[in-house]
Amino acid sequence: MKAPAFSYARPSNLGEVMSLMAEYGEEARLLAGGQTLHATLNMRLSEPGILIDLQAVHELKGIELAGNVVRIGAMVTHTDIENSPVVAQHLPLLSAAVPHIAHRAIRNLGTFGGSIAYGDPAAEWPACLLALDGVVVAVGPQGERRIAAHDFFTGLYSTDLQEDELIVACELPLRTGTHAFAFDELARRHGDYAVVGLAATANVKASGVQQVRLAWLGAVSQPYRSTKTEALLEGQVINDALIKQAMQCLKDEMPTEADLTHSAAAKSHLAGVMLKRALHTLNQTATAA
Ligand SMILES: Cc1cc2nc3c(=O)[nH]c(=O)nc-3n(C[C@H](O)[C@H](O)[C@H](O)COP(=O)(O)OP(=O)(O)OC[C@H]3O[C@@H](n4cnc5c(N)ncnc54)[C@H](O)[C@@H]3O)c2cc1C
Repeated sequence: MKAPAFSYARPSNLGEVMSLMAEYGEEARLLAGGQTLHATLNMRLSEPGILIDLQAVHELKGIELAGNVVRIGAMVTHTDIENSPVVAQHLPLLSAAVPHIAHRAIRNLGTFGGSIAYGDPAAEWPACLLALDGVVVAVGPQGERRIAAHDFFTGLYSTDLQEDELIVACELPLRTGTHAFAFDELARRHGDYAVVGLAATANVKASGVQQVRLAWLGAVSQPYRSTKTEALLEGQVINDALIKQAMQCLKDEMPTEADLTHSAAAKSHLAGVMLKRALHTLNQTATAA
């Protein structure tokens, strides 16, 4: 199928984007890299009156250290993240996750902001944003709004972003030397969306793990943090008995959902295995520290 007819605008700054959004209202759709939007247009799942192309909007680009956060512009591509020394140094979780996103051509065009706005439950960036306690910076007619990742993803492909808002950036807090992470993902073929994946982070000390974050992709119908299992682990020293308890807690807590290839029970089992591996990885960091 072909996309329905639409108008096209290529603003060069944020002010122009806001004016176009105000003028066209719900007829307008933002275009980032088009890696999801083009498909939905061609399948006529979406029929906007005008596409507002964000490619030339300089305020949405760049990865920078800003005080105690790394700020990633909405139009930063997956490849930009892959190549960024700032990300490699301060956000190694993202460096570990990015090779799992699709293939080179898609990584060259797909954007951080587009992925967060779309809120795909099987995508890598929403889970990483949750695991790192990131903040979405949105702009609308009322000005700027900061939304914690934990409040941002509200359901299947749905977020707290309002129709008249756009994402300008995401902010990810810098971490201390004791901050550890683990990323693991199972996909049918490399580059496919995850069947199940886990982005795990914690402050790891000899006395126990703190600020544990377990953020899942592919398991549930939205990007998901297993907060009960996090609470069980909080302050504890990781050992085999605790890992067993955590796996049971996760099984009881997480409402895994079947997809075309895997049953909910299979996903639940795979998630348990992933949790066990991630906790071992975090523990190795503790032993090494
Ligand atoms: C074959 C294929 C395989 C893929 N595999 C993976 C994968 O394994 N993992 C993964 O994470 N992703 C995967 N993707 C998705 C891809 O990586 C992109 O992240 C995702 O499609 C978003 O694309 P985009 O940035 O080009 O946004 P677009 O497609 O341009 O936009 C997506 C949606 O977000 C809205 N939007 C875009 N930018 C903003 C903004 N700044 N503010 C508000 N709304 C905005 C748009 O209006 C649209 O509704 C795959 C895509 C394809 C085509």
